[in-house]
Amino acid sequence: MARDFRRELTIARYLLKQKLLRRKRYPLVLMLEPLFRCNLACGGCGKIAHPDSVLDQRLSVEDCLAAVDECGAPIVAVVGGEPLIHRDIDKIVRGIIARKKFVNFCTNALLLKKKLHLFAPSPYFTWSVHLDGLKEAHDKAVELSGAFDIAVEAIREARARGFNVNVNATIFEGMAAERVAAFLDFAKSLDVGVSISPGYAYERAPDQEHFLSRRRTKTLFRRIFELGKGKNWPLLHTGLYLDFLAGNRQYACTPWGMPTRNVFGWQKPCYLLDEGHAKTYADLMETTDWERYGTGKHEKCANCMAHCGYEPTAVDAAIRHPLSNLWRTWRGPRTEGPMAPELAIRPRGAPNPAE
Ligand code: SF4
Ligand code: SF4
Repeated sequence: MARDFRRELTIARYLLKQKLLRRKRYPLVLMLEPLFRCNLACGGCGKIAHPDSVLDQRLSVEDCLAAVDECGAPIVAVVGGEPLIHRDIDKIVRGIIARKKFVNFCTNALLLKKKLHLFAPSPYFTWSVHLDGLKEAHDKAVELSGAFDIAVEAIREARARGFNVNVNATIFEGMAAERVAAFLDFAKSLDVGVSISPGYAYERAPDQEHFLSRRRTKTLFRRIFELGKGKNWPLLHTGLYLDFLAGNRQYACTPWGMPTRNVFGWQKPCYLLDEGHAKTYADLMETTDWERYGTGKHEKCANCMAHCGYEPTAVDAAIRHPLSNLWRTWRGPRTEGPMAPELAIRPRGAPNPAE
């Protein structure tokens, strides 16, 4: 699939503007959750574990577009739950695109073929299909036999109709590096980009055993990247974030980089960790004690290396050190040698060596 440089240029311009304005905290991706209800029930999911009274709630078209305007991030990830269940989802997407924001539409694809006609291909619109590995691994992760085949058929149909399509994969404990590598080979053959992130152990998720510790994450990703040398997998991350996953960088989390708006309001501090909600984006930014969060700062962040917290850190580093990012993107992550030291748990208020 041809890379969309319009998107990259827009984002680069946005980032440079934030730097010129000397903004310390700014959003990169708005995580818009118009609902928590889903048509799957994956064991590792912290979103569907809400009671029915919450699962039945929806953000309106107006709520969603107000959130997009309020936040100002150049990218909007429409997430959930399963957003295709929302009966006004096509209107929400059209409204976001009309604002010239780039939409990543995350879906498990069970309804994708049926609802494809509601959407139109656009450089501002990308399907991001949830696929946690090849057939056996994905069907097991989403606890539905046949889910992989449905998703792959929908991906092919969407590509045939001219849509941009990516897949997003969560990597859990017990996944063999060889299986992940085979999955990335398969994604390349589908002509789609891949977003990949280690799973986060949601407190509410019923299955707590299958999440990776940071040490295991780094070792596993090193092995995966070793297997990928020379394969040019279509990974959609900065070279620096991939190098971080391979244990070579000591990054602090940037929880404000991907703020989350859902039926409760603006979630503090990030998409994964629910520590209360603010009424407005401005309140979120002003009233969240950002210093409390991230690895080394908060016990619930101890094992997190998730894309939503650490990719914004890598993007910021890439702006400050573009050659380093280009070099890592070209060469791939380092897969041998000593790893960067872990961030130690620090007393509150103590300086963070990685900042
Ligand atoms: S598809 Fe996504 S939202 Fe739905 S249950 Fe699975 S992880 Fe949760
Ligand atoms: S480390 Fe960052 S992204 Fe991960 S749970 Fe903590 S605040 Fe959220």
